[in-house]
Amino acid sequence: MMEDKKELEQITNCAMCANMCKYSCPTYLATGKETITPQKIARLILYKEKAFLEDQQGFFDVMFQSAMCGACKIHCIYDNYDLRKFIQRERSKAFKEGMLPDETRKRVETFASFGNPHGERQLLQKGTGDLGYFVSCSAYNDQDLLKAMDRIISVGKKQICQFGGADICCGAPLYYAGDTEGFKKAARKMKGEIENRKLRKVIADCPTCIKMMTEIYHEVGVDLEVEFVHTTEFLNSLIEEGEIKVKRRNATATFHDPCILANDLGVTAAPREILSALGFEIKEPVYSQEDTHCCGGLCGARIGDCGVADKVSAMRINELKETAADVYLSACPTCKAVLSDIGMKDIAELVSEQIIDE
Ligand code: SF4
Ligand code: SF4
Repeated sequence: MMEDKKELEQITNCAMCANMCKYSCPTYLATGKETITPQKIARLILYKEKAFLEDQQGFFDVMFQSAMCGACKIHCIYDNYDLRKFIQRERSKAFKEGMLPDETRKRVETFASFGNPHGERQLLQKGTGDLGYFVSCSAYNDQDLLKAMDRIISVGKKQICQFGGADICCGAPLYYAGDTEGFKKAARKMKGEIENRKLRKVIADCPTCIKMMTEIYHEVGVDLEVEFVHTTEFLNSLIEEGEIKVKRRNATATFHDPCILANDLGVTAAPREILSALGFEIKEPVYSQEDTHCCGGLCGARIGDCGVADKVSAMRINELKETAADVYLSACPTCKAVLSDIGMKDIAELVSEQIIDE
């Protein structure tokens, strides 16, 4: 039961709202389904709270249809309200009650066996120093991205401790699956991985990993004494401080803002500053920066309804294609994989292509 009066008031306000934020909600825009709009989700949560709902599985299935992208938080008429907190709580109940959708349950089982949502993997460990580069589980198989980062690190003459693979994962898949206890365990493990390497600062290529480690770990009582930066912020600082030199290219580029990078981490300037430094003319899609739409990657872990997610991806591809740019870029390994139909690259690959190796 929702004990907290403030929370009950918040979800009631959302359930009774005019729902104009639905025009920013990618799951609604891609499917046209009213049920997957913020206000209707809030209404279902409220109905369940008041014991008006009979179809428990149907209710939980809707909770796993949200992309958890945060567009409704950005476009909400109320300050400090994030519907995802309530959706997340219902996902935890679905986990406890054994009512996860099949695809989500399989991901959790894979995680239980291998410590990551993908399966058996080797440990990735290279370099030393107190500056770390965490290769997220979504980046682990992306050889183009990893080679690009290797080249940038080597030309920039940076001492960097790269780590990832095996069972080193931020735990986001468990979080989004509602497995709170499993997530806490993964958070404590990740804290140990960072502390054992004595890192003072960590670069991460996946925005969801950063959100987990800087915000959600704290909610489950795990605090890390380390600074996190996203790869775009790191690359931008290398260029700005002259630690790497880059050639300019006469071409157009469209940057897809990963939803968590824009909506939760507030990083929208760094990728555009990199593109300007590389000489590109930036062609913005209609929905960009804080108005961005999710790629359909469901916060990196593909935890949720993949049928809905595929429709979100198709919509995002069309929105990006409308810009008719020479190059399509993102800064999240999941966005890149999910939007591969338009030849999406990570912005680090472009930096590596344009770097001057003197
Ligand atoms: S998320 Fe905010 S704007 Fe959207 S329906 Fe709920 S209260 Fe209204
Ligand atoms: S988090 Fe994203 S997908 Fe979910 S209700 Fe909000 S805007 Fe829609």
